[in-house]
Amino acid sequence: MPSNRFDKFFDSERTKRTFSKSSSPLSFTETVPPESGSAQPSYADHHQKVKVIQIPTENITSYAHNGYLYALDFITIENPLTSTFAINIAENYQHVIVSAGGDGEIKLWGYSNENNGSLVFLRSLSHPKIDSIFSLAVSQSSLTVYAGSSNGNVCIWDLATFQLLKNFQIDPNDVYTLAVSPSTNGNYPQWLLMGTEFGITKMILSKSTVQVDIEMENNDTGTCVRVTKNDPCLTLLTFAVNNESYLVSAGSDKTISLWSLQTMSNTCITCSDSLSLDNKLLTSGDSSVSDGKYENLSTYLTNEKFLQILGELITFRTVSKQPDTYKEECRKCANFLTLLLKSFGASKTQMFPVPNGNSIVHGIFKANSKKVKNPDDTPRILWYGHYDVIPASNSTWKTPPFTMTPSNGYIYGRGVTDNKGPLLVAIFAIAELHSRGELDSDFIFVIEGEEEAGSWGFQNSVLENLYEISDGGKPIDWILLSNSYWLDDKTPALNYGLRGRIEIELVVWSDKPDRHSGVDGGVVIEPSMDLVKLLGKLVYRDQIMIPGFEEIYKRNKNDGVEGKENLQYLEDWEIPLYQEIAQRVTDMDINELIRKWRLPSLSLHKIEMSGPDNGSVISQKAEAKLSIRIIPGQELENVKESFIEYVNECFKKLESTNHVEVKIMHEAEPWLGDVHNLAYQTLSTCLDEEWGVPPIFVREGGSIPSIRFLEKVFACSAAHIPTGQSSDNAHLNNERVRIVNLLKSKEIIKKAANRLPKAQNS
Ligand SMILES: [Zn+2]
Repeated sequence: MPSNRFDKFFDSERTKRTFSKSSSPLSFTETVPPESGSAQPSYADHHQKVKVIQIPTENITSYAHNGYLYALDFITIENPLTSTFAINIAENYQHVIVSAGGDGEIKLWGYSNENNGSLVFLRSLSHPKIDSIFSLAVSQSSLTVYAGSSNGNVCIWDLATFQLLKNFQIDPNDVYTLAVSPSTNGNYPQWLLMGTEFGITKMILSKSTVQVDIEMENNDTGTCVRVTKNDPCLTLLTFAVNNESYLVSAGSDKTISLWSLQTMSNTCITCSDSLSLDNKLLTSGDSSVSDGKYENLSTYLTNEKFLQILGELITFRTVSKQPDTYKEECRKCANFLTLLLKSFGASKTQMFPVPNGNSIVHGIFKANSKKVKNPDDTPRILWYGHYDVIPASNSTWKTPPFTMTPSNGYIYGRGVTDNKGPLLVAIFAIAELHSRGELDSDFIFVIEGEEEAGSWGFQNSVLENLYEISDGGKPIDWILLSNSYWLDDKTPALNYGLRGRIEIELVVWSDKPDRHSGVDGGVVIEPSMDLVKLLGKLVYRDQIMIPGFEEIYKRNKNDGVEGKENLQYLEDWEIPLYQEIAQRVTDMDINELIRKWRLPSLSLHKIEMSGPDNGSVISQKAEAKLSIRIIPGQELENVKESFIEYVNECFKKLESTNHVEVKIMHEAEPWLGDVHNLAYQTLSTCLDEEWGVPPIFVREGGSIPSIRFLEKVFACSAAHIPTGQSSDNAHLNNERVRIVNLLKSKEIIKKAANRLPKAQNS
């Protein structure tokens, strides 16, 4: 690519050198194939039959541009009498060739059969602001030519007047390719498609009487759509079938994608070999690869290779909260992970679909060490992770969020710590053991793509594919995950508790429409006022007023209720854990931690009202978004029911003419691990060995919806190994992780995979 060339010498400033005709003789050669006895022509025969064509001298125009020639396009003159362009310039030609190059000029060349096939220079177009031109597109219907140049500049010329209509910048990168939507017989809107380092930008073109207006907005929903596809996108092509317009794009991701141009929707077809995984690993032509597996995998799985593949994983913009924009990216990433597991030696790798969501990736590394005698005695460990991420914007990050950037022993990028980094650590750890024939346990990966969006569809998909996930219904002994952080930047930790979460929308509405307070104020009971009164009933000082909310169910080992306690209740065994944290993490306010980890909370996030945004509307509808964090010992179902009942009761007392509804949008159960079980004991030793100090045991205020669910489904216990430090900025700008943490985590997981025993209850 021109932008990547160190020396742009050949794209020189315009000089006054004139183009000339070459003077070498022309010839057409046809090589006659040799006599061959075989009925099937051989490869060599086939090639010898190919006609060798030499271009006639008069058809060669040397020095057409003073620089590289980057782009060519073609205008067919259908009817010279109806085309202003043709009247002005091209009445003598059937076709006009448009060329552009490193000299920043666009040149028009006439071509007709009478002219013996040679090109006749007609005129050139240029503008002082334009450097090298890399791409061209011609709109026959609007008689305009679009030129994409260096530094993201796009120029539009009118072919009737040869005036420059517009010059604008779409992004800081060179415009590699341009296309306009297929001819719509002069009907607008038409679209201009631009391919850059970033991906594809689609922009609407509308025609006013004087000139073509470009409507550009800096968002994804207006007239300008940006798709981070094929980045960098190197070539674009548009075509129409049955009045539907389509776009084909291709780029250095080795993918060819087909788009519906109207919607720019993700109806995109991606080549199955689209992955840019290391070619050596996946190309079957490589001698060291057989059956898609890498024979020298154990020497291939180095720490450098780990970082390289993590870098690739980070480039997928797998933002699950914005499915319209990133669904295809998520699919690509799931594909990437599936192939990665497969090429690393996992069996039964596949994707389980999630309706309207991102697929779950699954693969099993089978125990293969010499120690494995009876497969029934092999421990089975399930690793849960997720490949989706929180949104990240270029403008608020110091480094590009979807490019992994190393600095000072850390790597930066969206997902490096939550959760792509720890996930890839686990994959590498197990692949290393497996490739050396040293894996003592069956290790099952379940990787979802909707964790950041509330694990949408995860539970149903897991239940549907339970038999395959558990390798034919075999028991699972332990669930492991790494999706949280240390308490500080120096003390290794194991996590044993997460709060649960209920997301609620509380809506009050009236049968009447939005109204004007000057007309109806004082006459009606306003939904917004009812909502405020309801919200006021939920909390008194620091107390949550939902009946029964502050009761904790004490459970025995068999999950039976043993008694009720109040919120302040603390198990005896937890006290020394807190004492140790207080001792070793000196700058921590333990009481604050206890509140965050051990106490439930109710938060009001947003209030929305219907109608226009001004100071005289009585809204027909008022809506509050709330969430409740619950803790182990509280029953999710009880809290939910009690909340709904309480709100309805309070509303009844208001004697309002309005209506109320409580909508539960999302829910996640709290989770409490058993720090005394074999998994935590084993993990504690592994951490101690790697870090040189025993870990502290911590809880977290956040939620992971799937953990308690997986424990229930597989009737086993989970253990949670945080990888990153507290300063990792997960979910925030400049997310990072310390490389040492990743590499040590890998060793910890390798040890755990071979040391975890079968669970005692299985
Ligand atoms: Zn997260």
